[in-house]
Amino acid sequence: MLDIKGLADCHTHCMFSPDAQDEPIKHIFKAKELGLKALAITDHCECNTWFEAEYYGIDSSAAEKDDIIMYNCKKFHENGNSVLDKLEIPDDIEFIRGIELGQPLQAQDIAEQLISEPQLDIILGSLHNNKDMPDFYYLKYDEMSSAQIKKLLDDYFEQVLEMCRWGGFDILSHLTYPLRYICGKYKIRVDLSVYRDICAEIFKTVIVSGKGIEINTSGLFNDLNDTMPPKGLVMLYKDLGGEIITLGSDAHCSADVGQGISRGAELAKECGFGYIAYYRRHKPDFISIK
Ligand SMILES: [Zn+2]
Ligand SMILES: [Zn+2]
Repeated sequence: MLDIKGLADCHTHCMFSPDAQDEPIKHIFKAKELGLKALAITDHCECNTWFEAEYYGIDSSAAEKDDIIMYNCKKFHENGNSVLDKLEIPDDIEFIRGIELGQPLQAQDIAEQLISEPQLDIILGSLHNNKDMPDFYYLKYDEMSSAQIKKLLDDYFEQVLEMCRWGGFDILSHLTYPLRYICGKYKIRVDLSVYRDICAEIFKTVIVSGKGIEINTSGLFNDLNDTMPPKGLVMLYKDLGGEIITLGSDAHCSADVGQGISRGAELAKECGFGYIAYYRRHKPDFISIK
């Protein structure tokens, strides 16, 4: 197993994400303690739930807390900015300021505004829900037919491809996110080989535009028991000429910062990558894993 020392965790959430906790400085100290070279904080900027629930005609006093938790990302982002502007970073770690840009094409004006923010080092492009559908987290897959699940996944990969063609991000985050619930939580088998061609299209789009993909290691610690994307797709990305790969724990608290990062690096190495990347001002820097 590769040592975590000297690696970079490019995907974490702190208290400035509606579903996460802990002060950003606590994340940084955890990363420093682990010996990481660099740590990114990439709080949720979900474009389709940017404003408070009422803005979308939802009565938040009547809704379940879980159903409205991701609304009002704007407020969290603004609060985060005012704290992160003043953050004092220890000398021996690089702090990467980022955002996880969710569903940019579902509120493109907001996305365009966010990606022009000058303080950002890294933008992760994510799709947590298909257009006009709830987050994959909320869907009841045991009440769906296999044709319905297939349609969901067809739409998911199509919409990820569309997002990559738009390209307003640095790194495509956690490709295969719905599998975390479909395969992980609900134990429903999905034949990913059906999506190999569209994933190839996604990767080619990412590669031509000089972007990269993430190996998200959070799934190693829940029911999915795998990375997102899994090894087969990371290999496909490599075979198509992909060179830029980041690692992300997707930690939602300080205790989880760096979780799975050395296993992610090991996987990248097994797929033929000699380097992993981290970002400063939207430009990749590389760390050898040879
Ligand atoms: Zn995400
Ligand atoms: Zn995340």
